[in-house]
Amino acid sequence: MFKIAVIPGDGIGTEVTSQAVRILKKASRILNEQFEFTELRAGGIAIDTDGRPLPEATLSAALASDAVLLGAVGGPKWDTLPYEMKPEQALLGLRKGLELYANIRPAILFDALLNASSLKPEVVKGIDIVVIRELTGGIYYGRPAGIIEENGTRRGINTMTYTVPEIERIAHTAFKLAKTRKKKVTSVDKANILHTSMLWREVVSGIQKNDYPDIQLDHMYVDNASMQLVRNPKHFDVILTENMFGDILSDEASMLTGSIGMLPSASIGEKHALYEPVHGSAPDIAGKGLANPIASILSAAMLLEYSLKQKELARKIFHAVETVLGEGYRTSDIATAGQNVLSTEEMGRRVENAL
Ligand code: NAD
Repeated sequence: MFKIAVIPGDGIGTEVTSQAVRILKKASRILNEQFEFTELRAGGIAIDTDGRPLPEATLSAALASDAVLLGAVGGPKWDTLPYEMKPEQALLGLRKGLELYANIRPAILFDALLNASSLKPEVVKGIDIVVIRELTGGIYYGRPAGIIEENGTRRGINTMTYTVPEIERIAHTAFKLAKTRKKKVTSVDKANILHTSMLWREVVSGIQKNDYPDIQLDHMYVDNASMQLVRNPKHFDVILTENMFGDILSDEASMLTGSIGMLPSASIGEKHALYEPVHGSAPDIAGKGLANPIASILSAAMLLEYSLKQKELARKIFHAVETVLGEGYRTSDIATAGQNVLSTEEMGRRVENAL
């Protein structure tokens, strides 16, 4: 029995998640393994029902599950609430509560969507990049942080900080993943200026030398990396980087593929893991059956790969998506004139049948 906590959230989160659950149910039949789904509330819906974005019951049920599948949270209805009451606090609370220190975001371009990218087809054809971003350290969490009053002037402060163990564990995540791919890691930092980056580079190099001599490691400054990502994205296979650089670079890498509705992610810790599409709750199209469920479906595939070690089945889901796209079916966000436009549910069914 494998326990999956399902947190659909708000807006299109509920629509796309039900299609990902459809695929997981099919996976359970293929594997002949029982999955137990528990639906939980977080985000705006939890504010409305329970008075807070991440109810205690949701966090404890997520902690008791083998994996969490999340949709998206947020929407204009809750935008004016104070910071600590916003729906997005549910995401921070889950990351912290589940101790998810590694964010894994693949950027894969489906051949059928070659023209959806804003870059030339020959530059992006065949790209297959994974960004490993450290998720619980760095400048987003360092102290002191805040806005202070000093000699009559207000000053904003953030602190970028990393300890050796924090760098070590994320480096191991990247090297282990690289072993299953092209055996190549590019570590991105700003070691010409930042002390945290100097330590980062030293620790990452040491781990590669001692534990992963068969993996090719190169280092790149973050400004150069952001340039190379659009100039020659095929240079990269696994990108390893800290929290803020990863926040920016993973968005840049993922947009090489053209559509936010196609991009899955995994956030992994020692004991827990959470899978979610990269996109938000898309209030502009919510409730209309227009949302592309593929990001959520591929997040379910990552769940099977990382939490259940079913890499082969994950690959089959990827191929099922590829088949449906190859047949010319699209949701409206990725359609061009004359193509067969499907609703969220129809796309989910097509992928299920192709699987
Ligand atoms: P968004 O990702 O929700 O939407 C951006 C644009 O992409 C919109 O035009 C939307 O229609 C489109 N889009 C997104 N996903 C799509 C899909 N699956 N299929 C088709 N089109 C899709 O980002 P936003 O508009 O900046 O944010 C909306 C709300 O979502 C905000 O409240 C924001 O805070 C929240 N948000 C949540 C998460 C999360 O839960 N992880 C992430 C980002 C934003």
